[in-house]
Amino acid sequence: MTDAGFRTGIGFDFHRLVENRILILGGIRIPYEKGLSGHSDADVLVHAICDALLGACGLGDIGIHFPDSDPAYRGISSLELLKKTCALLDANGFRIVNVDAVVLAEAPKIMPFRREISTRILQAMQAARPQAFNLKATTTEGCGMIGRGEGIGAMATALIERRPPDRGRAS
Ligand code: MG
Repeated sequence: MTDAGFRTGIGFDFHRLVENRILILGGIRIPYEKGLSGHSDADVLVHAICDALLGACGLGDIGIHFPDSDPAYRGISSLELLKKTCALLDANGFRIVNVDAVVLAEAPKIMPFRREISTRILQAMQAARPQAFNLKATTTEGCGMIGRGEGIGAMATALIERRPPDRGRAS
C-alpha cells in the first residue's frame, strides 16, 4: 500500500439471540438468558471492530479472512480473530490510532461491563493507551428487531495510521 497517513474504516454486524447459547460480547461472558448464534462465538462487537480495522486497511472484511465455511473458526474466540486482524494491519505497515464502537441491544445492559470489555479489546489490539478504544451502548427504544430482543447489533469505526519504522504497532 503506497498511501501515507491516516485511514478510516467502519464496521457493522448483527447476530440473532437464541436459546442455549452463552452470550459473549467484547470477549467476555455476560450473564443473560440467551446468547448470540453464529459459527464462531458470535461476538458481534468484536466482529464489527475487525471489519472497521480491515476496512481502514483496505483489506475487505472479516468474511474474506475468516470464512464461516472454514471449520478452523468454529467456536473460536473472536478475540483471536481480532488479534489476527491486528497482525494483518501490522504486516501492512499500519497501527491503530483509535477504535470507537457502539453496541445496540435492548437487553442485557452492557455498560456495567464496559471496563472489563475495554480491557480485553485493548489487550487484543496490543494498545497501550486506554483512549485507543471507546465503548458505548444504546437501545432502540423497543423498536425493530433489536428492540424486540431478536438480536444484538454493533457498529465500530477505526482510525489507523502508517506505522513509523522504529515504533510498535499500537498507539
Ligand atoms: Mg458476525
